[in-house]
Amino acid sequence: MNDGSISFPEGSLVSVLTAQPLDRLLDYKAPAGGCLEGAFVIVPLGPRKVTGVIWGSGQGGFDPKKIRSVSEVLDVPPMRAEMRDFLQRVADYTLTPLTAMFRLATRTPGLGDSPSMRRVLRRGAGEPDRVTEPRMRVLDALDASDGQLLAIGELCDLAGVSNSVIKGLVKQGAIDEVETPRDSPYLQLDPALPGKPLTDDQAQAADLLKDGIAKGSYGTTLLKGVTGSGKTEVYLEAVAACLEAGRQALVLLPEIALTSEFLTRVETRFGAKPAEWHSGVTMTERRRCWRMVAEGGAQLVVGARSALFLPFQNLGLIVVDEEHDSSYKQEDGVLYNARDMAVLRASICKAQVVLASATPSLESWQNTQAGKYRRVDLTARFGTAVLPEMAALDMRVEDMPSSSWISPSLRAAVTKRLEAGEQSLLFLNRRGYAPVTVCRACGHQIGCPHCDARMVEHRFQKRLMCHQCGESIALPEVCPSCKVEGKLAPVGPGVERLQEEAVQAFQDARVEVLSSDLFGSAHALKERIEAIAAGEADIIIGTQLVAKGHNFPLLTLVGVIDADLGLQGTDMRAAERTFQLMRQVAGRAGRAERPGVALLQTFQPEHPVVRAILSGAEEDFWQAEADEREALGMPPFGRMAGIILSSTDVAQVFEFGNVMARQRAALDRIGAELYGPAPAPIARIRGRHRVRLLVKAAKNAPLQSALREWLAQFRVSGSLRISVDIDPQSF
Ligand code: ADP
Ligand code: ZN
Repeated sequence: MNDGSISFPEGSLVSVLTAQPLDRLLDYKAPAGGCLEGAFVIVPLGPRKVTGVIWGSGQGGFDPKKIRSVSEVLDVPPMRAEMRDFLQRVADYTLTPLTAMFRLATRTPGLGDSPSMRRVLRRGAGEPDRVTEPRMRVLDALDASDGQLLAIGELCDLAGVSNSVIKGLVKQGAIDEVETPRDSPYLQLDPALPGKPLTDDQAQAADLLKDGIAKGSYGTTLLKGVTGSGKTEVYLEAVAACLEAGRQALVLLPEIALTSEFLTRVETRFGAKPAEWHSGVTMTERRRCWRMVAEGGAQLVVGARSALFLPFQNLGLIVVDEEHDSSYKQEDGVLYNARDMAVLRASICKAQVVLASATPSLESWQNTQAGKYRRVDLTARFGTAVLPEMAALDMRVEDMPSSSWISPSLRAAVTKRLEAGEQSLLFLNRRGYAPVTVCRACGHQIGCPHCDARMVEHRFQKRLMCHQCGESIALPEVCPSCKVEGKLAPVGPGVERLQEEAVQAFQDARVEVLSSDLFGSAHALKERIEAIAAGEADIIIGTQLVAKGHNFPLLTLVGVIDADLGLQGTDMRAAERTFQLMRQVAGRAGRAERPGVALLQTFQPEHPVVRAILSGAEEDFWQAEADEREALGMPPFGRMAGIILSSTDVAQVFEFGNVMARQRAALDRIGAELYGPAPAPIARIRGRHRVRLLVKAAKNAPLQSALREWLAQFRVSGSLRISVDIDPQSF
């Protein structure tokens, strides 16, 4: 367990990292008995006591008499040197205070509350000086316990004595107190259990991944395979190899709703469930998980992006499933991309990374082209399943009645599926009933009072809601602008409105909406998904929730209601996103023995992105995208950072942004370009106005240090906030 950490003798000066908002380490004296570098401790801070971790030797420079001592060393495995290194490097990369990283790495309250060791009693070599009736009962009870280890309280109960009786016997050596590890709450996974027999293709891919594990060194592999090709089956072989090698493994999933299906697969493969880490897990469970990960008792963790900051003792493999998914980017607090930080963490602890996707991000694709990542392809679907046929439905020639979104051609296709007893999915990436509510008297569109966003009608709840801030109001009768009554009308479709149309159009069909806001809990959602997969619906209407990884064996038709939706706007990533989403959704069809069809309703069938989606000429698509980005020096060929300024005062943000744009010498020195200030992608949230400055630099430019130097010139005041977003999602 010794990873080269220094031990500090009592009284020596140590620096401690806490979660205090001031971005600095605090000096303390090591406590009686000394402490290890990385040890979790309690330190006095003003009148309070806070948790911290020993980061290194103290910096000094304060009056030594004023330096206080560490109050307590917690009974928690110390933070390993590689973890400290990782936190420091994430902080440096994302320009985040190290103190904020501490919070990420210890996001489990009551760190010292569930010690891994418990004190138990056993018969000692000594004899009691005096044999009394209670003492006899204690010794008899202990002898009768027959090797079962008893804690002091348990023995008190058994013998019917107070604990002073037992303490007396301990003092005389008749009973010894010993420490023993608590039982692990997790069952052992057995990597030696046989997996499913793999196809040649799959076996070849699995062997490549296993080679990487055997080397015990760092490496990243992009595992690219169409949905249903067996990527999960293949990377579970890498997990097996990692566990065989006695190292821990981590599998990141983009969506909590996917975990339970995955847990079951792990149980089938390895005979026990892995540890789980995400926001749906209780605090007690999380505390145990954190602890067991640190002690090595959790062999495999399945979790959301924050699982990357768990204190693994010996991490050998990180799998990032659906690596292209934008939910790997944390958009709050510490702005990091879990996919990229997984690669960083693996490089520090000499682990392997597997990035799995049917539609990789342009970044990962480019990294394989450049030879930084290996690439393994699974080209065929497993078994008899074949990829869905894809076709465009040209909406310019479809005969569409008003307030209708299902074209006659799509309708005919659904009817055919209904007759065959198969399922259809109608995909529309819009929650609610209608995205816009407009007054037919004055043309006013109802917007959120706090955000730069329209209020979305949710008819089931009879409310208008803001999808940015959650503001919700009862559906008004009267236009808030012109006060005319009864003229408010929904414009455009959301999934709820589409459902209305589907129920009308397909009278006997069972229509079901799958949208994240319609379920109270991840559990309720999971149950519905399972029921639907088992055939409890004929037509599924879904948002992007259904695009991710679920298996619907009876589904043979996917109808995309608005394939052009993602192509509007100016975001450089729009094409990539649309391509990924459309291919993912289409991949839901025909996963079992029945072949599938995907029909895309579009007004621009000759748009290059739509054509690429239909033809499936992926490599050409990536290459064209890459060429375009390269010509513009955009990621992944250049680097970008977004600086978001926000304030309740709109004049202040722009003024401040202009000042920052003028004092840009530090950026000029690295040849970086600066755009803005301009309204941020979401220009107002929760009453705060937001403007964005975008910095673009060459790939090898020292972007972080230039940003640091540039930002250091400005002092924020009032309600102004600055946040730095390295590698922003939209640009
Ligand atoms: P992906 O992760 O690429 O979408 P999966 O690993 O989920 O693909 O595989 C799709 C389906 O095919 C799953 O139901 C899986 O159990 C099954 N499958 C894949 N490979 C095999 C195999 N070698 N033997 C048996 N079933 C397999
Ligand atoms: Zn709002």
